Amino acid sequence: MTSPIRHILLNPGPATTTDTVKQAQIVSDICPREAAFGDIMAEISHDLTQFVGDPAQNTAVLFGGSGTAVIEAMLSSVVGEGTLLVINNGAYGKRMVDIAKPYGITVVDFVSSFVEPIDYATLEKAVQENPGISHLAVVHHETTTGLLHDLTPLGHFCSKHDITLMVDAMSSYGAVPIGMKAMNISYLAASSNKNIQGMAGVGFVVCDNQAIETLKDQPPRSYYLDLYQQYRGFKTHHQMRFTPPVQVLYALRQAIAELKQEGVATRYKRYQACWEVLVSGLANLNLTYIVDKAHHSRLITAIHEPNIEGYAFEEMHDYLYERDITIYPGKLKETATFRIANIGDLYPKDITLFLKHLEAYLKTL
Ligand SMILES: *Cc1c(COP(=O)(O)O)cnc(C)c1O
Repeated sequence: MTSPIRHILLNPGPATTTDTVKQAQIVSDICPREAAFGDIMAEISHDLTQFVGDPAQNTAVLFGGSGTAVIEAMLSSVVGEGTLLVINNGAYGKRMVDIAKPYGITVVDFVSSFVEPIDYATLEKAVQENPGISHLAVVHHETTTGLLHDLTPLGHFCSKHDITLMVDAMSSYGAVPIGMKAMNISYLAASSNKNIQGMAGVGFVVCDNQAIETLKDQPPRSYYLDLYQQYRGFKTHHQMRFTPPVQVLYALRQAIAELKQEGVATRYKRYQACWEVLVSGLANLNLTYIVDKAHHSRLITAIHEPNIEGYAFEEMHDYLYERDITIYPGKLKETATFRIANIGDLYPKDITLFLKHLEAYLKTL
């Protein structure tokens, strides 16, 4: 099979994939209810668990759907009659607040700095003012800005206050090291198409088994997105409750094999090497970015739009797109930015090529 033309995706997921992951989707048709396919999903669930937890204590529960679907499954299934505090420091934190509302979940919207770490004194105050807080949700790596939280102190904070910690790790999982036990995380959501470098279409929540077992008698708020029932079904039959995205799962199995081979730490090093090339190139072009290096993920960068007469994001996008490079608009209200994600099957030479075309575009102005 000939390889399709390689596109360099610098949008924050779905990320650039290898040809081997693309080709893994071309398989014989199979009824996903066959035991052979259940075995494949069990292997995928096991492997997704072991990147961040212990398969004896944690279970990755898979759904067909995008990342938002599993955030919704997690929030709607876990919180119950309790109160959820959401750390809102960007578009994805705000999204969790918005997801909770239609389910009638009691939410405390804890607005935190978009560029600085969590202020624990203010958080402590919020918890004291709202004594019913039972759950806390946080975005590990805010894809709007590149702000990365240190989850260890947050885990300690939640443990001290007897609060269940839930994490949106969508854009950190597979690169930034995570240990669910050490960080006191009960539920962690991610998807197939970011740092794992698989195809879009599968989301999963890695659950602490003891925590999810406590949901047994809690009334569900959603039918399809019932996390406990999906977990039960998977434990019993190695099956999703409803039709899984079969070919996406074959690709995910291949992407996991490639992540295991490279190793999470080595993958993060490769991404960081790309980021170093990116930021030094940006500096040469007099472009600056938000979020200080000290709290920066080095995975996704929100760059101030160039202050040059005639600049338009759409035109810059189209110029690069014609050259097989995709960039992404910003998502911040107050500051004009565009975003570059150096995740996926990318290497420093790809970033160098992007910078070359970016410079050429800026020269046309
Ligand atoms: C990508 C992403 C999501 C999920 O987005 P989908 O488009 O639904 O896959 C959620 N949270 C964060 C932090 C993300 O980066």
